[in-house]
Amino acid sequence: MNAPDDDFDFIQPLFLGPAAENDQLLESLVVEFLRDHAYWRRNFHPEDGFRIEADARHRPDFLAMQARIRSELYKLSADLKRAVPFFHPRYVGHMTGDLLLPGLVAKLVTTLYNPNNVSEEAAPVTVGMELEAGEQLARMFGFSCDESKEPCAWGHLTGGGTVANYEALWNFRSLRCYGLALQAGAAAEGWDPEGVGPASKALSAYTTWELLNLSIDETVALRREVAGRLRELGDRARFHAFSKAVRRERVEHLGTAGFFLKHGIEPPRVLVSASAHYSWAKGMKVLGLGTAQLLEVPVDARMRMDADALDAELERAERERAPVLCVVGMLGTTEFGTVDPIDRIVEARDRWKERGLDFGVHVDAAWGGYLASVFRRPDGSLHTREEVAQGFRHFPSAPVYGAFAALGHADSITVDPHKLGYVPYPAGAFIARNREVVDFLYQEAAYVFDLGDREEPMPTREKLHNLGQYILEGSKPGNAAAAVALTHRVLPLDSTGLGRILRMTVRACEEFYDSVAEVRARWAGRVRVCTPFEPDSNLICLAINPEGNTSLARMNAFGREVFQRMKVEPGQSLQGHDFIGSYTSLRHDRLDGHAERILAELGIDPATLNDIPTDPDSADHIFILRHTLMNPWHLSGPDGVSYVERYWSWLERTAMEVLGS
Ligand SMILES: *Cc1c(COP(=O)(O)O)cnc(C)c1O
Repeated sequence: MNAPDDDFDFIQPLFLGPAAENDQLLESLVVEFLRDHAYWRRNFHPEDGFRIEADARHRPDFLAMQARIRSELYKLSADLKRAVPFFHPRYVGHMTGDLLLPGLVAKLVTTLYNPNNVSEEAAPVTVGMELEAGEQLARMFGFSCDESKEPCAWGHLTGGGTVANYEALWNFRSLRCYGLALQAGAAAEGWDPEGVGPASKALSAYTTWELLNLSIDETVALRREVAGRLRELGDRARFHAFSKAVRRERVEHLGTAGFFLKHGIEPPRVLVSASAHYSWAKGMKVLGLGTAQLLEVPVDARMRMDADALDAELERAERERAPVLCVVGMLGTTEFGTVDPIDRIVEARDRWKERGLDFGVHVDAAWGGYLASVFRRPDGSLHTREEVAQGFRHFPSAPVYGAFAALGHADSITVDPHKLGYVPYPAGAFIARNREVVDFLYQEAAYVFDLGDREEPMPTREKLHNLGQYILEGSKPGNAAAAVALTHRVLPLDSTGLGRILRMTVRACEEFYDSVAEVRARWAGRVRVCTPFEPDSNLICLAINPEGNTSLARMNAFGREVFQRMKVEPGQSLQGHDFIGSYTSLRHDRLDGHAERILAELGIDPATLNDIPTDPDSADHIFILRHTLMNPWHLSGPDGVSYVERYWSWLERTAMEVLGS
């Protein structure tokens, strides 16, 4: 592993920089490739001559329009000075930072060509780059991308983690309902293939529960087996009739409610950790699965999904005969950066499979996914925990290492290049371990048959090029694909590439966390400070309380008052802010079991915690300052005083000011 000082050298050419230090580099790249684009246009049918006359630019109407464009741009550029300075190490708020130069330039340059990644026809170059980005991410997670073996992974970009999460639900719903549809279709056609499926018996001999509990790989295999049998009969008309009958039985045709009503089964459940992002609730609404079926698994004192509580939920699902579409683990929660025990979720899946209950495993790694690069050697193998730990004091804890090492056993993963990939919005990604799921989602003209009409075992890379056929979105930016794939080419997703930058962010968080004890001593008798959960990655939260105060409402009001000085107010310039942060609150109903420990550390009387939401300063929650440390320069600073140290001094000064006012 490289020494920390080398890391600062490593990042010098990679960003525009907090003070736009690399503006000349950026300018020269943009100008070079802008000219290149102009030549490209000029050389497409040069015999056609020019449509915009050379002397047009001297005409008054041309000049007037040019002035109008310019004046609107002046206004825009002036307005944008009220934008949020995400690029600066004084920004410790939300999950966004400076942009990596290679991706930024790729995005700007590609915009001139404006490719639409809905299909290869509209994006002959960038669709390939999108699938390349998907495979780069898949390999970082430990999925196989070898087309000569099954399962073979694939991935594509989305507008963000939210859409990738919807896609996971959509994929699981489709796959997990397929077995039943196949059986119903066969029954309707009066045909019953023998010796199929994992139990190698007649299709009609499978119980509803058995079919609902086929894994993705088993469903893929079953579909292929049945189609093969049908092909053997050599009757194309029958093949088509059967395909149609299955289509009529699928959840996509009947609708979620229709499908489950028809089979008289409990609506399917989705189990997420209680710290899940709100996009999961949105997704349940969008897909008509209903938020009543989204069950929150409690978290432990480290804000990680409690594996025993998960078992209890699975037990209940089995008892109530409710299918579990999937269990979702968080790899880096949005609020705390904490990491769920993905290894234990995978282990639970294997254990429950023995008992006849199967569920998909999805990892919402929108935030933490890229940290997997820190765990990968350049040859794609996994670093040992000792190797990863070099240069850190705490990271990675055994549970965190276990979670990252288990990623390759998940069915699918959400990751956001526009967060820790440092590329421009919009760029989320959905990565699936088995690319054959796309065969279940294919959206084509109505005459295409459900069972597929080809014999090759899996969709080739070329077939995947028609993206719009089996993803949620339609028209989509090819420039995002160029930005993501090019960034990964410059900075491979391993510990010598992007991982080097991410290591710096985790180190900043450790430094921050390790200062808490010292700060606590320095502030003794004035303000109490507490980190509600030890950080698992590069996000850290703090609760602060004036010494002697025992009322939660008063503590929350104090925290808000301090936060006021680091808050983004639309319409207000941020130049006067020393630091810009974010906040979150631990809600009363999410505090199960943790409230006492946290309140005791802060000196708050637990009796002042209540569940009546009244005004913003009320006491149904604990107000906390949230710090996302994703800027690689947090550990540097003017005069050798790092931004982390500067933040602590600023927070101390501000807290005292608020106390004194
Ligand atoms: C940010 C985030 C999302 C949502 O992603 P968007 O890109 O904002 O749509 C989902 N899950 C987690 C854990 C996140 O951090």
